[in-house]
Amino acid sequence: MASNSTSAPASKKARTTTNKGKAGGPHDTSTDDGIPIPEITQLDYVNLTSHTDAFDVDPIPISWGHPDPLIRGPVICTVRHSSQRNAIGAHSGSYCIYTGLAVAAGKLNPDYVPNLKLTSPVFNIGPHPSWSDPKKVASIDPFGHLTTEVYRGYLDKGFDIRPTIAVTKAHIDLPETREAIAAGRLVPDGKILLASGQSIVSKAAIEPVWYLPEIARRFGCSEAVLRQSIFRMTNGIYPELITRPDIKIFLPPIGGLTIYIWGDPDTIPDEDIELTCRVHDECNGSDVFGSDICTCRPYLTHAIEECIKTAQNGGCGLVIYFRKEGRSLGEVTKYLVYNTRKRQEGGDSAEKYFSCTEQVAGVQDTRFQALMPDPLHFLGVTKIHNFISMSDMKYNAIVSTGIQIVNRIEIPKELVPDDAQVEITAKVYHGYNAGKAYQGIDQNELKKTVGREYGYDKPDEKKGKNVVDE
Ligand SMILES: [Zn+2]
Repeated sequence: MASNSTSAPASKKARTTTNKGKAGGPHDTSTDDGIPIPEITQLDYVNLTSHTDAFDVDPIPISWGHPDPLIRGPVICTVRHSSQRNAIGAHSGSYCIYTGLAVAAGKLNPDYVPNLKLTSPVFNIGPHPSWSDPKKVASIDPFGHLTTEVYRGYLDKGFDIRPTIAVTKAHIDLPETREAIAAGRLVPDGKILLASGQSIVSKAAIEPVWYLPEIARRFGCSEAVLRQSIFRMTNGIYPELITRPDIKIFLPPIGGLTIYIWGDPDTIPDEDIELTCRVHDECNGSDVFGSDICTCRPYLTHAIEECIKTAQNGGCGLVIYFRKEGRSLGEVTKYLVYNTRKRQEGGDSAEKYFSCTEQVAGVQDTRFQALMPDPLHFLGVTKIHNFISMSDMKYNAIVSTGIQIVNRIEIPKELVPDDAQVEITAKVYHGYNAGKAYQGIDQNELKKTVGREYGYDKPDEKKGKNVVDE
């Protein structure tokens, strides 16, 4: 079959309807509120984006960076309005595939529009001046949590617009916090920290919304090169990256981030009020399962302890948790690197820490911190008093966007697991901030810092016996 679509309709009119039963036309408005009539896509056929019939779209305009949300325009990325859609991709990051599974399994009606009635934020974020500066916010929709408020007119007319940010509260309970209470480092106050060890947080989950021209600028390439690279390395899953250069918004199928706040979020933009902050990249092996090969969980829980202290002193603590597993290379690649590190001659060593990743993946790190400061700007951060990170890359990325960092706090030496000495030594030698605790890491120290070694059972050429490399 030559056709790219199944039961492709004969014309645009046949496959879209307006909620008022007449064709809307380009931004046709039946009222004087300036909001077009939604064209509802009939979802009983498969419409491939590579099919010419899908190209006659009439997207709702987006003016990225405009401080007025109505002039900026709502991000429309559901399957409901294929002709007015103004973003490439789908909602919920990689979980969009599960939405497809749910429809396939007959568990979800593709026409279902979420009931957002009780979903609005439980505390206020913004607006901040940074929201209208694409150099500060280009990977988050700063109005993503305000959908039901600022785009009420669109929702009322029948547009299916999804929040890309959800704002809520929680009590969190960590064994390290309870240990800190037992050791006298933390004292429950019944407000931020309960006697049970629970701490009270405000939090927000954010899915990425990329404004492609600015993303390209930050990575030092043209927008065309960025679009072509993503198209190529995803085996072409988003043809509109190539065919629709007029659509500048992309919801990438990647992990998002979570913001955790201790203390009053309203104080975050106030430079006179102490702000303690860690930006943390996901490490499931350590963060959740306590692997001793790295410092991820101990550094994270130390940061939380410092955040609680700052909040108890009237300031604010902030942890931003990025889903960037294994330096954004993924957990499979990470474990392959672990095996390479442990099995190389002489075992795991600080000297070869970075080269092992490069040997396996072809690159040392794909986290590229260029987009990392965006959630800080989304929250209105202009000054961080205590930055709980030793990373030079994170530090440089943040200060280069105009945020001031006063103190850089290293992980206390006693929190570094034995097998993670390799990681911390390699990182400090290669430019991480040594602070007071890690001074004097030179080439000698690098050479002599070694970690665990795995025996490597490889099949003996003679008779299938296993030999172990020493
Ligand atoms: Zn880790």
